[in-house]
Amino acid sequence: MYDIIIVGGGPAGQSAALFTSKAGQKTLLLDNEKGLTQRALLKNHYGAKELSGKELVSIGKEQAQSFGTKIQKAQVISIENNKGAFLLQTEDGETFEGKQVILATGSNSKLAENSGLKTMPGKEPYVKTIIEVDQDGHTNIPGIWACGVAAGVSVHTIITSGDGARVAVNLLSEIKGERFVDHDKL
Ligand SMILES: Cc1cc2nc3c(=O)[nH]c(=O)nc-3n(C[C@H](O)[C@H](O)[C@H](O)COP(=O)(O)OP(=O)(O)OC[C@H]3O[C@@H](n4cnc5c(N)ncnc54)[C@H](O)[C@@H]3O)c2cc1C
Repeated sequence: MYDIIIVGGGPAGQSAALFTSKAGQKTLLLDNEKGLTQRALLKNHYGAKELSGKELVSIGKEQAQSFGTKIQKAQVISIENNKGAFLLQTEDGETFEGKQVILATGSNSKLAENSGLKTMPGKEPYVKTIIEVDQDGHTNIPGIWACGVAAGVSVHTIITSGDGARVAVNLLSEIKGERFVDHDKL
């Protein structure tokens, strides 16, 4: 049983995974490796002079793994509530159980729709449908959160990665019962 299962390994999902695993939560990230960020050339990501989307995602993966995130290639097809936990089923017939789920599935809303999450029309270019979330990132199903393009934020890596971190911090704050802060010192 994982504490947190994240679906989607773009900037939003990886950034969320970095925070949750660094905070000691047993984290699994499932991604189908079909993300389009790999094709981007980034000249507007604060703190990085210029890098490719491929480099960003590769560094993000290493960072999340270094804090203990398990990353597995998988196409998740459904999420079911199973006696207080969530059962995620993949196209290949594997199942994974998690106490909480974060959806960071970009512009693909199929999983959310198949899993009974409320959606609404997206406003950003190329994003037809987004998952309805409150200001903290909760969806209509308690225990399932959403972040990044999937939750309607602007389609820029600095914003989607920041949103993944923001939602992870909100989730961690709920688990800990007080506002969570992750600061390291020199
Ligand atoms: C060609 C191109 C150029 C770009 N240039 C820039 C730029 O210059 N600057 C900039 O800031 N941004 C740029 N972007 C935009 C930026 O890459 C994205 O908006 C942003 O990274 C989206 O982040 P995300 O994590 O929310 O979603 P994504 O990066 O889309 O990640 C979602 C991931 O979830 C996976 N997924 C979806 N459903 C499932 C499922 N059911 N099971 C498993 N996995 C699933 C997807 O395949 C994907 O890997 C560009 C994008 C493209 C395509």
